[in-house]
Amino acid sequence: MNPTNSGMARAGVFLGPGAPLETRQLEIPVSPGRGEILVAIDLATICGSDLHTFSGQRREPTPLVLGHEAVGRVVAAGPGRESFRPGQRVTWSLADSCGSCLPCTRFGLPQKCDSLFKYGHASLSDGSGLNGCYSSHILLRAGTHVVMVPDALSDPVVAPANCALSTVMHAASRVPAGTRTVLVQGAGLLGLYACAVFRERGAEAVFCVDIDEQRLSRVTDFGGIPLDGRSDYLNGLVAGSVKCSRHGVDAVIEVAGHPAVVPAGLRALRPGGTYILAGMVHPASALDLTGEQLIRKCATMTGVHNYMPRHLDEAIEFLTLTVGRYPYAGLVSPPWPLDNLSIAVEEAGKRAWPRVSVSPRQAS
Ligand SMILES: [Zn+2]
Ligand SMILES: [Zn+2]
Repeated sequence: MNPTNSGMARAGVFLGPGAPLETRQLEIPVSPGRGEILVAIDLATICGSDLHTFSGQRREPTPLVLGHEAVGRVVAAGPGRESFRPGQRVTWSLADSCGSCLPCTRFGLPQKCDSLFKYGHASLSDGSGLNGCYSSHILLRAGTHVVMVPDALSDPVVAPANCALSTVMHAASRVPAGTRTVLVQGAGLLGLYACAVFRERGAEAVFCVDIDEQRLSRVTDFGGIPLDGRSDYLNGLVAGSVKCSRHGVDAVIEVAGHPAVVPAGLRALRPGGTYILAGMVHPASALDLTGEQLIRKCATMTGVHNYMPRHLDEAIEFLTLTVGRYPYAGLVSPPWPLDNLSIAVEEAGKRAWPRVSVSPRQAS
């Protein structure tokens, strides 16, 4: 069956933590409304936040189609989206925003829109129900930033760009230009992307610390210098090395998701440096630091959540420019058929791959 010609979409529906996933047929709207684009999903990747929902650590309205990282092809574009033609490969911002509220305009934070909608987080009863990426089709809304994907980028290279890489682009945009030394905390997908992004932006040394050997083994391939978090790497770093002055690094990027790393990050930061927090998107993130520590270090600490549309543009541009230099495709598992979504989720939970992928085009 060609999914693009069917009147029904096939989706993996999440009913709640512990309940088995259900493959359901969902009706595809006859034609997309103003600003909407119907997309056939080619490949979706399972993000850590999806795993939190599957396990019940994060609450979402059910039933729903999860999944927000994906790449696909345009099936039909509604009025106002005439530049998109059937068959074009696209990816899209995970947030849909109104474009007119205060967060969208004055604050410059459309991901904090007063009427924010996020793909993979909305129930079947919201709009068409085709709101997530573990599905043969998704209906993109009028306030969603949609980006064309060049053929030079394969599906596994692109699929995580609209969450993981775009968030890293946002984090990098908050670090002052001319940053020479960076410490990345966490060698998961975001950490590896961060190594490549800062190297390409001219950093002389990007250290990347983790406590997991398998994760650390990928750091060098992405231009980073691996540091074993179980060793006393910090003393070496602040004592000065060939790659780092004894004052510490210019910037620290937290993508580890764990508050225990923050005191070490602050110690590693040079006076006047910038500390970006991007990984701890959960309530168990109380920090063990004093105001005095921040003040005496004249440090800038910035929280980064999701991203603005331009960061998705930058992510696709970055991949296009650097796809020959870093082994992006190797970060994503071979695709599981959509009908085996439960197995794919289990595999993702084992964390052997930075991302496990699912494809509705893959036969089960
Ligand atoms: Zn994600
Ligand atoms: Zn808005």
